[in-house]
Amino acid sequence: MARGFRRRTLLGAGLAATATGGLTARAATAAPLTHVSEPTIYGTDEWVARPPNSEIAVLDHPPRYIVVHHTVSPGNTGELTLDRAFEISQAIQSFHMDSNGWIDTGQHFTVSRGGYITEGRHRSLAILREGTRHVYGTHVSGRNSRAIGIENEGNYVAAEVPATQWASLTDLVAYMAYQYEIPPNRIVGHRDLDSTECPGEELYGQLADLRGEVAVRLGTPLVPSFPQWPLLRPGDRGEQVLVAQRLLRERGARVPTDGVFGPATREAVANLASAHGLDMPGCAACTRTDERGFLGADIWPLLAGPGRTRELQRRLTR
Ligand SMILES: [Zn+2]
Repeated sequence: MARGFRRRTLLGAGLAATATGGLTARAATAAPLTHVSEPTIYGTDEWVARPPNSEIAVLDHPPRYIVVHHTVSPGNTGELTLDRAFEISQAIQSFHMDSNGWIDTGQHFTVSRGGYITEGRHRSLAILREGTRHVYGTHVSGRNSRAIGIENEGNYVAAEVPATQWASLTDLVAYMAYQYEIPPNRIVGHRDLDSTECPGEELYGQLADLRGEVAVRLGTPLVPSFPQWPLLRPGDRGEQVLVAQRLLRERGARVPTDGVFGPATREAVANLASAHGLDMPGCAACTRTDERGFLGADIWPLLAGPGRTRELQRRLTR
């Protein structure tokens, strides 16, 4: 487990802070991060993974985002054993390879409800230990070259994350952030990148706590997160739906402007997503087939148009 003597800092965080004034010098003299130890992670050999179908691509740069998912499908089991963690790792890999046709497990790591951390895609653990390169995974749409992904066993739309799982997730994310010098404000939910509910309302709502805890462990100030887009679902009502409908009409879609996310609006959003290749091919471990037509982080910029994303974000969040 060789680790270099490179001094780890968050230049990115310092530079981001310059926007709030006078912190350029701070970026240049960023304090070293507090060391974060590697948590116990069970490798693909330990849970007896199948070999990948082709060579794992390793990119010559670190990831820029840590993306949190939930698996949804297996439900919230009471089985909290290491055997269960291995079983779910095997099940996810089989699903991704046999059903999705992927070369290997999509995400880089998995955290079981019992709090056991397993390696997902082969080589993810060795490359994470290096801290300079990134295994190309398959867990988000279009940003896999920059995003490292963690699947959390369970469904966290309404249920709380068990304390053991939360503790292990925090340990893993803090270690990743340390190894890759990723500022805590770049710890995001899948929802922040794609039009999906993942990682569920409950877990998504806890990400601010996760960012705060990681900032404490790294000994770095927490700069504000980048602006987030709202997630709208069929059946939703209100001003944000109305804004979406007006923008859809500007693009020729025949939708009402009643502020109700009905079937016509859903169809228009789904068609827009399809036209841009955003059919949720990414996160199959957590993809729900009933999410067709959801309007989220990858669709809003298309509706805004070039150069108008900040203006739209202001309208949606005021
Ligand atoms: Zn996801």
